[in-house]
Amino acid sequence: MKDFLYRLFQGRYGAYGTDRLTKFCLVIAVVLLFVSFLTPLGFLYYVAIAILAYSYFRLFSKNIPFRYRENEIFVKYTNKIADFFRSFGDSWTQKKNYHVYKCPNCGQKIRVPRGKGRIEIRCPKCDNRFLKKS
Ligand SMILES: [Zn+2]
Repeated sequence: MKDFLYRLFQGRYGAYGTDRLTKFCLVIAVVLLFVSFLTPLGFLYYVAIAILAYSYFRLFSKNIPFRYRENEIFVKYTNKIADFFRSFGDSWTQKKNYHVYKCPNCGQKIRVPRGKGRIEIRCPKCDNRFLKKS
């Protein structure tokens, strides 16, 4: 059996193991299959089959450098998406720890740490002073 698999994948991309793009395709295909069964969105079944066919095509492809590039582009792209969500989370923690006030005089936004009680805020732009609870 092992011999059979070895011969099957010899010289093909799948011989180097499953890459991130393949794993992602398989997960998406399974999710789409479930969605197509549980909802009226039956056409998703065909999308799932197409994605499965694509990942099998990649596994059995002999154009290894190209498949490798494909995965590299995918990894780069998904890292960008992950970065986006990370920065989104960061700005949320900032919101939790800081209060942003607008200067009533010039509209300049001023970031003040939360939980300091009533404080006097001095606008760095127009030197206007105003009291706020932080
Ligand atoms: Zn101001």
